[in-house]
Amino acid sequence: MEKMEKFAAFAKELGVNVLRESMSLHTTFQIGGVAFFAQVGDLAVLMKIMAYLQGHDIDYQIIGNGSNLLVSDSKMDKLFIKLVGNEDEVFLEDETLVRAPAGISLQKLCDFVLEHSLTGLEFAHGIPGTLGGAIYMNASAYGKQMSDVLESIFCLDDSGNPNKMEAGHANLGYRHSVFMGKKYCITGALLLLAKGNKTEIKKEMDFLWEKRQNSQPLDLPSAGSVFKRPKTGFAGALIEECGLKGMKVGGAAVSEKHAGFIVNLGGASCDDVRELIKEIQDIVWQQRGVRLETEVEFVK
Ligand SMILES: Cc1cc2nc3c(=O)[nH]c(=O)nc-3n(C[C@H](O)[C@H](O)[C@H](O)COP(=O)(O)OP(=O)(O)OC[C@H]3O[C@@H](n4cnc5c(N)ncnc54)[C@H](O)[C@@H]3O)c2cc1C
Repeated sequence: MEKMEKFAAFAKELGVNVLRESMSLHTTFQIGGVAFFAQVGDLAVLMKIMAYLQGHDIDYQIIGNGSNLLVSDSKMDKLFIKLVGNEDEVFLEDETLVRAPAGISLQKLCDFVLEHSLTGLEFAHGIPGTLGGAIYMNASAYGKQMSDVLESIFCLDDSGNPNKMEAGHANLGYRHSVFMGKKYCITGALLLLAKGNKTEIKKEMDFLWEKRQNSQPLDLPSAGSVFKRPKTGFAGALIEECGLKGMKVGGAAVSEKHAGFIVNLGGASCDDVRELIKEIQDIVWQQRGVRLETEVEFVK
C-alpha cells in the first residue's frame, strides 16, 4: 500500500488525483469493485506517469470508457488509468488525415469527421468506446473495422518511450491487435478518411444508429456483444436458437432484445455475469456443438 501512497503523491504533483473508487462507475456494465483510479488527459503527464510505473511494482491497466470490461467485484490493489481526450485535440493533418488522442470518444470523433465532411468512420458511430479502446480491440461494425481507417498509431512502449507505428504493423485482426498482452499505452492515431458528402455521411450515421437502437438493449447497462463471432453463424443467433433469451443469474440476464448481449438488470455482480456466460457456453456447446469465446474482457 505504501507504494500506492508514494505513487499518489507523485501523481498529485502532476495534477492527477488517485482515487479509491468503485469500478462500477467506470464501466458500461456498471459492475466492478473498489480499485485505485486516475484520469489522465495530458500526454506529457501520461508519459511521466508511465515512466514512473515502469520502475515500480504497481499493477495497472490503461482503460478508455470501460465498454468492453467485466471487472471483478473484489476490492483490488490494481490501478486503472482512464485516458480522456478533448475535441480541441482533434485536428486535420491534411485534407483527409485526422489526428486524434486515444482518450477521445468515438462519438466526438464521429462529430468531428462529420463536421469536416469526411467519410469512412460512419461504422463507429454508436460504439460507446474511446479511440484507444477501439484500436486495442480493432472495433468493428456493419462490415467495417478500425484497421480500414487507421494510418498510424502513437503509443508508449513498455518502457514509456514514444513510438509511431504504421497501422500495418499493429497486427489488427478480428478483435485482435499487437497491443494485447503488452503493457503499451496507445496515445493517439492518424486516421485516413476520404472527402465525402456531409448529408450522405449524416444519413449513414443516423441509419446505423437507428439500426442499433432497434436491435440492441441500449437502455440497460451492458458491455455490448459478450461473445466473439464463431467460425460459423453468429453468437446471438445460436444463443437465441437454444432458447436462452431472458435466462437469468442474479441480476444478470440474456437480453430479450439481442441474445448476444448480457444486461445488468440492477445489482448484477461480476460473478452473476460469469456464471451466466459459463451456462450459455455449456448449453450452446451441448446443443449446437459450437464453443463460444468471450469478447468481453474479464479484469481482476
Ligand atoms: C452498447 C454497446 C455496443 C457495442 N458495440 C460494439 C460494436 O459495434 N463493435 C465493437 O467492436 N465493439 C462494440 N462494443 C464494445 C466496446 O465498445 C468496444 O470494444 C470499444 O472499442 C472499447 O473501447 P473502450 O474505450 O471502452 O475500451 P475499454 O473497455 O476501456 O478497454 C478495452 C481494452 O482496451 C484496452 N485499452 C483501452 N484504451 C487503451 C489505450 N489507450 N492503450 C492501451 N490499451 C487500451 C484496455 O486495457 C482493455 O484491455 C459495444 C459495447 C457496448 C456497451
